[in-house]
Amino acid sequence: MTAKYDIIVVGGGHNGLTAACYLQKAGYNVLVLERLNRAGGGAWTEEATLPGFKHNLASVFHGILHLGPVYKDLELQKYGAEYIWPDAQVAAAFTDGRCLVFYRDLDKTCQEIARFSEKDAETYRSLATMFRTVLDNMIGPWFFSPPVPNSISSLAFESSVEGLNMMRMQLSNPKNIVNELFESNAIKSLLLSFIKEFGGAPDTYGFGVFVPMMLGETHYPHGWAICKGGSGNLARAFVNCLEDHGGTVMTNAEVKKILVDGKRATGVQLADGTVIEAGKLVLTNLEPHTTFLKLIGEEKLEPPFIHSVKRWRKEDTILFHTHLALDEPLKWKCAAFNPDINRCLGVLLIDEPQEIYDDFAAIDRRELPPKPRMFTAYPSVVDPSQAPPGKATAIGWQYVPYNLREGGPAAWDEVKEEFAARCIKIWSEYVENMDKSILKHYAMSPLDTERLWTSMVQGGFNHGEMSQDQLTIFRPFVEYKPYRTPFENLYMCGASTHPSGSMGGACGYNAVQVIADDLKIKNKWWE
Ligand SMILES: Cc1cc2nc3c(=O)[nH]c(=O)nc-3n(C[C@H](O)[C@H](O)[C@H](O)COP(=O)(O)OP(=O)(O)OC[C@H]3O[C@@H](n4cnc5c(N)ncnc54)[C@H](O)[C@@H]3O)c2cc1C
Repeated sequence: MTAKYDIIVVGGGHNGLTAACYLQKAGYNVLVLERLNRAGGGAWTEEATLPGFKHNLASVFHGILHLGPVYKDLELQKYGAEYIWPDAQVAAAFTDGRCLVFYRDLDKTCQEIARFSEKDAETYRSLATMFRTVLDNMIGPWFFSPPVPNSISSLAFESSVEGLNMMRMQLSNPKNIVNELFESNAIKSLLLSFIKEFGGAPDTYGFGVFVPMMLGETHYPHGWAICKGGSGNLARAFVNCLEDHGGTVMTNAEVKKILVDGKRATGVQLADGTVIEAGKLVLTNLEPHTTFLKLIGEEKLEPPFIHSVKRWRKEDTILFHTHLALDEPLKWKCAAFNPDINRCLGVLLIDEPQEIYDDFAAIDRRELPPKPRMFTAYPSVVDPSQAPPGKATAIGWQYVPYNLREGGPAAWDEVKEEFAARCIKIWSEYVENMDKSILKHYAMSPLDTERLWTSMVQGGFNHGEMSQDQLTIFRPFVEYKPYRTPFENLYMCGASTHPSGSMGGACGYNAVQVIADDLKIKNKWWE
């Protein structure tokens, strides 16, 4: 059977859905094809342990979504994605009984930092104030625009000392920057642990941009937010928006081939053999290896381009995640130092930066971190609708290698439960009631993540390593301008494009800007 749409989107992640909604509203007839039984990709909530316990199997912290235009442009609140911004945002818990809580309120945060270092509190206040402006005027617009050549973006920065300093930070790594700015291990530990959650080690060059990003984003009027009822409601809101404007999402529809004729993409073929034609264009939410080598095929590509696709580096450092169904919320041993830790959305288990470096050193050796330094999250503490009355949910995220030294990726199926037990044991050292509270756990190894969302190759949620040579105009290759490909009407819109992973819809939004120019769309309704 052959159906025909103007635009076909391969993969129903939030980036594919973002692009689909904008283009449908611009007057095109858009079809989104999703391999799973639900669209949303990393916006996914499932009762994975027990009935009534809503586990967000991928994203929880949705800050970037509110930095850009997507949430408002697509009226996602009206379509069912309501947000909560917790006052107590994140904390670091220390084994000496102390903790450092970061609030949305900058003054309260600085008061807490001053308990560790007056000097750091002052530094933090001035940086957070400055970085808020930087976030609003530079980082936000940088996320939500197609990347421009470094020679052009550098010009504005190079005209002032402040600009040069920002550029220096962006090119540097979090470890260097945090060390030059702060003296207290408490604040260094919190920042370095939190920043690594974007998907890179503290010594990753090019990752320095996340220091101003984190300081600017955590405090009012910004802040890390969670979707009421679970991240799956964000996915549903995108789908509702698309369908309300006449678009279509087809689930259980795995794309096996992107059909090309010469330099044009003509449509797709599904796993069941169905062929669907695309009148105008095809957009892929998938990363370069899958899109070009698997779905199109090397025989349809020029050899130099095959080389540039193959040099795309996948992520090796991947999140292992343990989801808990709890009989009651966890109670922190360090709550005597600051009781607000009991209502924090995120808590980092860390004593000093060296522990994070040790974690990443083990990952580099392709071994499991002996003492996992987890980032833990408590969605139901902030949004009680995510668990049955009086009960709670929790998540522990820990970076691990995909390709284990002993046994490779396949060994994950053998070591998964043992490693989950190690994570829970370390976690329980920080809380009073872990053993009596756990009703059930559900662990996902990198292999499980990859099996569920095949778009997250090797379990990598950025769809490819984030490092200087794979960011901005280099993401994912330099032979074609960002979001474009060797096929004149095939575009890319997933996390393998600028600005990469996280829930914000930025990749989808940016792809639409490029498509709108190429198609000479007059009805740029979002401008
Ligand atoms: C454990 C974990 C925790 C995370 N936490 C956060 C967080 O707190 N905050 C945050 O901002 N981000 C977080 N992320 C990252 C975020 O989820 C991703 O960066 C984001 O989902 C990428 O979006 P995307 O739309 O580009 O791709 P994806 O979400 O990967 O979506 C791609 C879609 O394509 C579908 N697909 C794959 N192959 C095919 C095919 N052949 N045919 C049809 N469909 C196909 C997939 O099923 C998927 O639905 C987390 C991710 C993980 C795994």
